[in-house]
Amino acid sequence: MAYARAPLPLVFDAPRRGKPPLHLADLDPAGRRAAVEELGEPAFRARQLAHHYFVRLSNDPAGMTDLPSAARDRLVSALLPQLLTPVRAAQTDKGSTRKTLWRMADGALIESVLMRYPGRVTMCVSSQAGCAMACPFCATGQGGLQRNVSAAEIVEQVVDGARVLARGEVPGGPGRVSNVVFMGMGEPLANYRSVLGAVRRLTDPAPDGLGLSARGVTVSTVGLVPRMHQLADEGVPVTLALSLHAPDDELRDELVPVNTRWNVAETVEAAWQYAARTRRRVSIEYAMMRGVNDQAWRSDLLGDLLRSYGDWGWVHVNLIPLNPTPGSRWTASDPADEAEFVRRLQAKGVPTTVRDTRGREIDGACGQLAACDK
Ligand code: SAH
Repeated sequence: MAYARAPLPLVFDAPRRGKPPLHLADLDPAGRRAAVEELGEPAFRARQLAHHYFVRLSNDPAGMTDLPSAARDRLVSALLPQLLTPVRAAQTDKGSTRKTLWRMADGALIESVLMRYPGRVTMCVSSQAGCAMACPFCATGQGGLQRNVSAAEIVEQVVDGARVLARGEVPGGPGRVSNVVFMGMGEPLANYRSVLGAVRRLTDPAPDGLGLSARGVTVSTVGLVPRMHQLADEGVPVTLALSLHAPDDELRDELVPVNTRWNVAETVEAAWQYAARTRRRVSIEYAMMRGVNDQAWRSDLLGDLLRSYGDWGWVHVNLIPLNPTPGSRWTASDPADEAEFVRRLQAKGVPTTVRDTRGREIDGACGQLAACDK
């Protein structure tokens, strides 16, 4: 199937605030070999370096004993620079939820969150410093976009989590990252190249990448339709989440302003096509806002809309209790309304779950990442 690829409007081009330093994790294996050769080293050193970074999770030249000592510092400073400096960290759930505020080389700030559950560890990463999508209920959306995050800056957020887990610093003993969700700051599909590069680094088998399963990686989008089609073409079967929040255009125009460009019908159609082509079940995200989008009739409308594409298990609905953000005029739904909303969807045969609110106490839950340096 071919899709028209309309160029995205200029609003999606992030201002070039500062170009982050080049890093091994920005490059694919061929690019790494070329970069190493440019530094006057044999190409096979690229793989040695990748082993240190993706397998040993190290960028310390002292431990790279398989590299000639003269080459170590040069290779590390050229290809494994420190991209993220921790500014602040917060913990909750007895240490099994940890949020970190990072400063990037040019001063821009992002946040990442590690969540350990029995049997899995999820890293929630930021793909942009700020966000241009301006959803009024989301803290990140309020400050506009500072800049895109590079592929390596995304990977570094995951590698940091992997290091903390490997050192046994998260309760539950030494562990590994199993899932990565692009649900931190930013609209991942508005930073397509970097996000796809990061996805490849995360899913490439070691030592070329971290070797995570693609099904453990979730890319969440406001619904940039051409980019959703493009993602389906890439052959990396990541899970797609569509932030719908309303089944009707009148309300969604307000809650997710990009709806005026790609409406409910177009974006749900693109989500269905993603599921049909990747055979990956799509997740519909729906933040429950009291008296705004949580009415029984909207549950029915949502259920009918999703069912109109068939009942072969292409979709499930993930309700997110609205997390409070400063100055927001919206609050979470009444539990009885939420339960009725779920019941109606399930009665129509739409699998529906309610997301937990991990990290809420440390402003680390969905929609709360604002990265203010206070
Ligand atoms: N730009 C991407 C990723 C953003 S965050 C996207 O919109 O999908 C991931 C999810 O958190 C999105 O579904 C987003 O709509 C939701 N979210 C944003 N603010 C929220 C809030 N205050 N409470 C609950 N969920 C929120």
